[in-house]
Amino acid sequence: MESKMFCYQCQETAGNKGCTVKGVCGKTAEIANLQDKLIFATKKLCAAKVPNVGKIVTLNLFCTITNANFDAKFLNDRINLTLNLIPKNFTVPEKIGVLSTEDEDIRSLRELITYGLKGMAAYLYHANALGYDDEKINAFMQETLAKLLDDKLSGEDLISLALETGKFGVYTMALLDKANTETFGNPEITKVNIGVRKNPAILISGHDFADLEQLLKQTENTGVDIYTHGEMLPAHYYPKFKKYKNFVGNYGNAWHLQQKEFEKFNGAILLTTNCLVPPKESYKDRVFTTGAVAFEGCTYIDEVKGKKDFTPLIECAKKCPPPTEIEKGEIVGGFAHEQVFALADKVVDAVKSGAIKKFIVMAGCDGRQKSREYYTEFAKALPKDTVILTAGCAKYKFIKLPLGDIGGIPRVLDAGQCNDSYSLALIALKLKEVFKLDDINKLPIVYNISWLEQKAHIVLLALLYLGVKNIHLGPTLPAFLSPNVTKVLVENFGIGTISTVEDDIKNWI
Ligand code: SF4
Ligand code: SF4
Repeated sequence: MESKMFCYQCQETAGNKGCTVKGVCGKTAEIANLQDKLIFATKKLCAAKVPNVGKIVTLNLFCTITNANFDAKFLNDRINLTLNLIPKNFTVPEKIGVLSTEDEDIRSLRELITYGLKGMAAYLYHANALGYDDEKINAFMQETLAKLLDDKLSGEDLISLALETGKFGVYTMALLDKANTETFGNPEITKVNIGVRKNPAILISGHDFADLEQLLKQTENTGVDIYTHGEMLPAHYYPKFKKYKNFVGNYGNAWHLQQKEFEKFNGAILLTTNCLVPPKESYKDRVFTTGAVAFEGCTYIDEVKGKKDFTPLIECAKKCPPPTEIEKGEIVGGFAHEQVFALADKVVDAVKSGAIKKFIVMAGCDGRQKSREYYTEFAKALPKDTVILTAGCAKYKFIKLPLGDIGGIPRVLDAGQCNDSYSLALIALKLKEVFKLDDINKLPIVYNISWLEQKAHIVLLALLYLGVKNIHLGPTLPAFLSPNVTKVLVENFGIGTISTVEDDIKNWI
């Protein structure tokens, strides 16, 4: 059967090969082909060196990320906006998708870089929303997108470009970290309530703190409570958000449980970024989207003169019953770089005394595949003298387990969102300095990272740029890595995947 689409950008891709009829994520062939067209038009726009297009390029990349945008009108508008900026005599050729690059190694590297740039765009978008930008990052993104259309670039050229993408990934995560911490303060150790109150409520998901701040301001003294879902949980760790009395807790777990949890939440829901699961009819009228996220049939809240008016969302919430309680208790997080640096002496003493033998970085994404239960079992099976460093929604696989502490240091240290993997890199660099090591790989750290979508790719490229070796990526290696590209990653960086919990514990710990 002739394929209607081709997409293999995420870990859930069909058969770990590629979605060809409909996305496992729910993306139709129409949406997939529009996203291909938008990416192609964006590359052409960059090749044409049209000035002042940074924000357009950033949003174009971001809205094609996995589980963000399922709306044909939104994508068509972006395509038209982009094509209209390209000098006139340009028409979109017929073959533009992933498979239009015939050489599988060149295709693999081009996609690795494209996906890394999509992740970078997501982080840059959040920094932009807080008023932070960097022309060097924008210029790199645009030059690189143009290079991805250049047939003269060899495999070696593209491998260098992938590492350069990692370097700019570090810069972008540093920019976002600066934006977040200068705007909202440094994350601090925080207990987050996971139960519910009796007021009508709004559940905010995604990663955009600028949206959260506007929502909190607009709901103050309205009687509407605000809960976080998924990757918005770390907002509770920032001092500036703590002053809002109606910012009451975190509801539910990672993105893939939305259909069950959104139903029970009862109130209005705001999706600020990925990861959106196509909503069920039973609660679709309570789902609102903004930024890069859109879904046909859900109300989209646009920005007008730098402000978003969340009135329709708040009015919807007021008419809804309070959330149904699905859990009780609290979770602890807020171990970003400054907080861990403050605990540095305690941590160093624990390592020197042998109380902590190893740190395990279990950061990244969660997902719906059963094989991801591995991460829960792995966390449970770890020896009690190990500490997990986490960031991203991967944490939901183990953050509620009673794993205890080591001399007051919790055995799970949550730095925050996936972009806060940057914090984990800073913590590793700090430990390298404290222990006077000449190589980051001599630290007692094991990397067991779970990935799903393209932000994970920029984090991976950033770690490779920082010289981190022997990263275990699971639950499967990306389908877009060709055998030859995989070989390069294995030989030069020691990249591997996971096996069984028993074998991995035996071999790594
Ligand atoms: S984003 Fe993932 S699940 Fe969706 S179509 Fe692409 S590969 Fe398939
Ligand atoms: S960590 Fe990845 S999978 Fe999880 S919500 Fe963020 S973008 Fe989605």
